[in-house]
Formats: sequence, structure tokens, C-alpha cells
Amino acid sequence: MDQPPLEILRVDARAGRHASFTLHGAGASSGIAIGYAHLVSTARLEVPQYEIAPEEVDQEIERFDSAVAQVRGEFVGLRASVPASAPAELGAFLDLHRMILDDSMLSESPRELIRTRRCNAELALVQQMDMLLARFEAIEDAYLRERKADVRQVVERVLKAMLGSGHAPPAPAHEENVVVVAHDFSPADMILFKQHQFAGFVTDLGGVTSHTAIVARSLGLPAIVGLHHARQLIRENELVIVDGAEGVLIVNPDERVLAEYRLKQSALQIERQKLRRLITAPASTLDGTPIELQANIELPDDVGAALDAGASGVGLFRTEFLFLNRDDLPGEDEQFEAYCSAVEAMRDRPVTIRTLDLGADKTLNGADRGGPNPALGLRAIRFCFAEPQMFLTQLRAILRASAFGKVRLLIPMLAHAHEIELVLQYLQQARDTLQAMGIPYDHELEVGGMIEIPAAALAVPLFIKRLDFLSIGTNDLIQYTLAIDRTDDMVAHLYDPLHPGVLQLVAGTIRTAIKSGKPVAVCGEMAGEVAYTRLLLGLGLRQFSMHPAQLLAVKQQVLRSDLPEAEALASRILRAEDPEKIRQLLGRLNA
Ligand code: PEP
Ligand code: MG
Repeated sequence: MDQPPLEILRVDARAGRHASFTLHGAGASSGIAIGYAHLVSTARLEVPQYEIAPEEVDQEIERFDSAVAQVRGEFVGLRASVPASAPAELGAFLDLHRMILDDSMLSESPRELIRTRRCNAELALVQQMDMLLARFEAIEDAYLRERKADVRQVVERVLKAMLGSGHAPPAPAHEENVVVVAHDFSPADMILFKQHQFAGFVTDLGGVTSHTAIVARSLGLPAIVGLHHARQLIRENELVIVDGAEGVLIVNPDERVLAEYRLKQSALQIERQKLRRLITAPASTLDGTPIELQANIELPDDVGAALDAGASGVGLFRTEFLFLNRDDLPGEDEQFEAYCSAVEAMRDRPVTIRTLDLGADKTLNGADRGGPNPALGLRAIRFCFAEPQMFLTQLRAILRASAFGKVRLLIPMLAHAHEIELVLQYLQQARDTLQAMGIPYDHELEVGGMIEIPAAALAVPLFIKRLDFLSIGTNDLIQYTLAIDRTDDMVAHLYDPLHPGVLQLVAGTIRTAIKSGKPVAVCGEMAGEVAYTRLLLGLGLRQFSMHPAQLLAVKQQVLRSDLPEAEALASRILRAEDPEKIRQLLGRLNA
């Protein structure tokens, strides 16, 4: 499917009113939002650029100076609050940041740029940062080269001070009537939206299975990604309609279109209301085969939504979100409390805690994206092996939480079977530490692995014999099988869960797990898409994990599914070679 071209429909050119136009992107989260556009910049990604009048130069320099002074004050305050017992590195880290801030290239030179080029302060600062980073790049000394991340952190602090807010968008008065429009959001930015109640989101960049889109879905709000020019074309406060299912954004709709979408919106609301009747119904197919429907969560508070949707457990806790949007790392106690609160809230239902999947699009504050191709770089379990202390801290916290309920440990991004052995060694080390301290943990803790790299899917027997269960991460499995970056909207149209190669890998993994008598789940976005529910059932899947917002619709589909028919059509789909034929058979399966 080709990316639809940017289409501008002029349907209303009445004087005094801006013309209506339509933009097409990829629907990231279904539903209809009607609201006023609020244009958002994130300090990291977009810095305002504008020329200033000669008479505004002094004022602009003053604005820059006061942001630098504010950040300097923050450092002084932070330094003073470091307890004597804190590790020496913490004080040294703050001193280093203070030194970077005071470097004349960052605190003095931007003033010159503002004066000579008459550019705004943010732009002047970022230009200086780029020059400084280029100098660091040329330095032979690896330690100094690595200080680039510190420079970025310091600059971000000053930018934040100038922009008057953090990465979260400033909240307009009536958030529920607001559609946020941005060039791009990182998953870290997106998670901050959990504290808000916006009507919807649209972005220029991003693919539908990027972590940004996944978090948008978990918020249950209509969202579109990959709109390309929305941030440029839309003005603050323009009325917009977000059709998240179709990926269509209508700007300045006329009365007729508005009325039509209001009608659609209430029909969807009624539909959602009806689904709520299924909360307590056991999930089973027409012949009574029980199906597990579990929830994916990012933060412990998300268990509320999981329980509300009647999830039978947490199939995926993406713990890395606890590490985003902060300048420090959560310690063992803080992590333990986070895991424990999810485990206790789920009562006896299992909570599958995935070890850190940092790297690629989810990075720690100030860290580089990691290597020339971060999705293929030091991500997930590879990152944990490179940071053993961080990994051990997390393992101890998870083990401690396992004494309070049914915890399962899940390892992301396995490529080699020996990675499992290494994880088990670290786990043993963490157990030994707790044992020596007399701290209880579940001695029977199950350890599972994610199948999200084609090599692992092709060699499942190697992995399964060392593990208690498998979980198929279709988002990454598709990304790596089809060689398309899931965050890149330029190749988003090539992302295809129905590609015969992908289907063979998913089917083969499920088949091998069943043969080995080990549980297997799908926890990628495919599990939450009603269009694929019957196909996965037909391939033998009995455990699905998805965002709570998708759970009841999937349950409805399960309840209406005829298993023998699904099996027959799924095996025909697997044998089909032509993509058109596959789609036709899927249409029949879903009819
Ligand atoms: C996946 O890759 O399908 C998955 C569930 O993990 P994540 O989306 O967090 O990469
Ligand atoms: Mg993944």
C-alpha cells in the first residue's frame, strides 16, 4: 500500500474562515476526536527559530542570561542537597554539569550570536552546542568523547528554562477539547501524556508500531502518526477532527462534516459502552476453548486499566518506562515498590515483568541513541549485559517482588541461546545476594524469552529448552524480518504483519512451543488487533497480551470465533503465496 499523497481539499473558502483541508497519515489509535489544535514542541526535537528585531536584541540576551542563571541556581541547589552519604560520583557529576554550563562556548558565545545574527536565544544555544559536540567528536580521548551526552543534558536544561516547560506540553485550560499536534514525540514524551486528558494526538513522524504510537494506544485516545506536514500546516486553535481508525485528519471542517463525525463519535461511544458488558465474561471460543487475554502495561498505575478491562494477568510490563524522563536511575527499592504495587494490585493473576528494553527509541535522559543503527545496536538484553550493575539491581528488585504474588520474568530481544545462560547466571547471582540477606523471593520464578528476532524464531527449539515460556514480540519480529525501522514513517507502508515470511515465523514459533508443551503468547500489537485475532487462534495461539483499551474488542471477537474454521483458514493462509490471496482469505476468516 503506497503512502497516500498529501491532499489538500479546499471545501470552504468563505471570507474570514480558513479553508478546510484533509491530511492523511497512519492511524495509530482508533476513535474520533474533535477539538482545537495545540501545537507542541519538545526541547529535544524542535527548537523555535526566528529572527528578532534590532531593538529586541538586549531583551533576548537577557532572556538567555536569565535561563543560564536559573540553571546555575538549580545546580547549586542540587549540589547543596546531596547528602554526605551519597556516592562521590553524584557530586562530581553535578560539578561537571556546572563546569559545562560555565564554559564560555555555552554561556557566552550564544550572546554574540544573538547580537550578530539576530536569531532567537534557543537557536543560538543549539548552534553553539552543535559546534561544541563536533569538537568533542574530534577528541581522541574516549572519556571526553563520552561527555557529549552531558553537554546535551545541560543544554536541554537551559532550553527548558527558556521554553518555560519540560518536555510535557503546557496544559491548555480545557485539555479535553485539545488535539495535540507535534512534529514528533519520543516514547518518553508520550508517557508524560498519561498525566493529561487531551482529546487526541497527531504527529508528522512515526510508524504505527513505534513505542510512541503504542503508548498513544494505551492512553485509549485517537491518534495519527506520519502526517508529514501537520505541524507546518495547522495553526494553533484551529478546529480539527482526528479519525484514528482511518488515519485522516480534517482541519477546519464545515458544518456538514462536523455533524457527520459527531454522529460517528457517539456511535463509537455506544459501541464501547456495549463492550463493557463483556468484562466478566470468560474468554472462550464458540466450542468453549479458554483463551487468556492479558494486558500490556508501561507503568504500575496501568494495572487499574488492566483490571478494569478484565485482564487475566499482565503479559508484558515494559519496565524501561520507569527509567525515562528522569536524570537519575530508579534504585532497587524504588523498582521493587513499583513491581510490587503492580503485583499486589493484580492479586493472584500473573504479572510478566520484562527486563529493561532500553536503547533504540527508548533512551535514558541525555544518552545517545546508541550506535549508528540503534535498533540493531546495544538494545534490550544487550544493553543490560553492558551495564551489569543496573541489570543486577533490576533482577533483585523483580525477585523481591516475586515474594508478593505470581511474577514471571521475561527477557527481551534474544538472538543467541547463550544469552539465556548468561541471564540465568546473573539471576543466580541476584538470588544469592538476597539469600545471604535473608530476603524472600519465589524460588520457582519462571523465566521466559521474547521471540522478536528472526534468528530466534527460526531456531526456537534451541531457546525453548532453556526457558519456561515464550512471548512473541511481533512488533520487532516484523521490523527485523522485513528490515524496516518501525519508527520511520518513510517505510511504514512496508510494515506488513501478513507478509508470508512473518506468518511462517509466527506460526512456526507457536507450533514448536505447543509441541514442547511450553506456554506461548503474542504480546506485540498484532495481539490487540481484532483483524488478526482469528488468524492467531487458527495458528494455535491461546494467550494474547495487549493494551487494556483493546482487550474487550478482542474478547468479543474470541467469543464469536469458530476454532475449527479458524484453523482451516489459517492453514490455507499459511500456504498462500500471493499477498492478495492472503488478504482475501483473511477477509473470509473475519466475515
Ligand atoms: C514487540 O516487539 O512486539 C514487543 C512487544 O516489544 P516492544 O514493542 O516493547 O518492543
Ligand atoms: Mg520488542
